[in-house]
Amino acid sequence: MASLLLKGGTALIHDTSDHVKAIKTDILIEGNKIAKIEPEISASPTVEVIDCTDKIVSPGFIDTHHHLWQTQLKGRHADELLLDYMITGNAQSSNFTPADFFWGELGGCLEAISAGTTTVVDHAHLNYSPEASKLAISATVSSGIRSIFCYCPTSRVASWKPFSMSRQPLEPWVLTTLEELAGQAPFGDGRVTLGLAFDLYFLGKDVVASVFSKAKSLGIRTITSHYVRNAQFSLASTAELLHGFGLLDESILLSHATGATAEDARLLKEANAHVSTTPSTELQMALGQPVCFRDDLPGMQEQSSLGVDCHSNNAGSVVGEMRLALQAARGTWNDKFNEKGKAPKVVNKTVEEVFNLGTIQGARAVGMEDQIGSIAIGKTADLVIFDGTTPAMVCAAQHEPVAAVVLHSSPADIETVIVDGNIRKAAGRLGKVEVDEIARKEVGKATLDWKDVARELLKSREALQRKIQDLDFVEAKKRMIRGYYIDESKLVDEI
Ligand SMILES: [Zn+2]
Repeated sequence: MASLLLKGGTALIHDTSDHVKAIKTDILIEGNKIAKIEPEISASPTVEVIDCTDKIVSPGFIDTHHHLWQTQLKGRHADELLLDYMITGNAQSSNFTPADFFWGELGGCLEAISAGTTTVVDHAHLNYSPEASKLAISATVSSGIRSIFCYCPTSRVASWKPFSMSRQPLEPWVLTTLEELAGQAPFGDGRVTLGLAFDLYFLGKDVVASVFSKAKSLGIRTITSHYVRNAQFSLASTAELLHGFGLLDESILLSHATGATAEDARLLKEANAHVSTTPSTELQMALGQPVCFRDDLPGMQEQSSLGVDCHSNNAGSVVGEMRLALQAARGTWNDKFNEKGKAPKVVNKTVEEVFNLGTIQGARAVGMEDQIGSIAIGKTADLVIFDGTTPAMVCAAQHEPVAAVVLHSSPADIETVIVDGNIRKAAGRLGKVEVDEIARKEVGKATLDWKDVARELLKSREALQRKIQDLDFVEAKKRMIRGYYIDESKLVDEI
């Protein structure tokens, strides 16, 4: 790993109170760490210099909830709600082969890197066989992203004709595979660690407690679950349930938490558990108002971070989710005044607050704030370099760089992405993928260009489409609603 010198850029540096200062400085990277941050660092002959004149150097973005396997399903859910997606998206994992998972996962990771995500929490609900999870991990390693791969004992589809779910989500191989993987973790020079994703609370306290205890005994530090309190999902509180089981602690990362009460927020804060807000899916699929900026839930903003959730449904960009979270919260806030014939005197929430949700607060959500989430000496070199002179960024980048990133940028303005000291995107293009040893046989090549990945994704998508096109989604949705004991009288056309 060569040393890198980022010369003459404007770096977004957090102070101890989480304020982000735009500072003109050089940054020296040695190995995978930030070694120096000083105004003038001279280049030694062995160092690779990246000219950062007119560029913004940002901490890499942290995405705390993402299903990275779903690339082949992109474009299917644009006009769907949660219960539609559960069939047309989530349940389609049953039609994926292990190779499909490899390509889907690799495509998801590479889209994320291209959009500046350097760390992701992968809720990997793809576990149809030991091989499925192993190839997904191998794809993650190959991509170069930093990931907490949250292995997921998954509710599996047993049959499509008629639709039914397996009654045995925890067959013995599920936990023995977890043990096997934990014995091999971490993967990819330590970049990919193992977490647990768990949504099988219907199995009851004893089973839940024994799975969590096994995970923790295997060294797992992040346990993530979906948590939505509404008529489409469950009116019960996962926060209360975990608290009641004695399992609510700092290892818990709950995605969404929409519909949470002030008491839920209090329990989460008290336990230092965290939340991943995913505005695109929450707003579209009627999960509820994103909680990250709900001031009626004391402490919730502090415990929150941001996730992409489904890149099958929306762009895989943390910055895109920042923008939506901020403007949706402002819209809701402003309406409270408008509805009473009044107007707010000050704007609600700031670009800095939402920038923090996608950087330093993401790091806290996974207990890694000493390693990632901000630009500081000794932290790992996970950095994103924006060109400040593109049509989108020019003038904004020079006047207020955080605003330029949050409100003006797209992945096209990201010139360079560095993960763990390695350049993964340069001159606006993804670098070569070095295929991890485990997947070499499947791939048949040692390196891949993005075009190779895209070609394989298209082949895989076509094969999947042939399996999917004749399925009866309407009937499957009806059966799933009954199977999950969702109160159908609450699902209405208008209110
Ligand atoms: Zn999700």
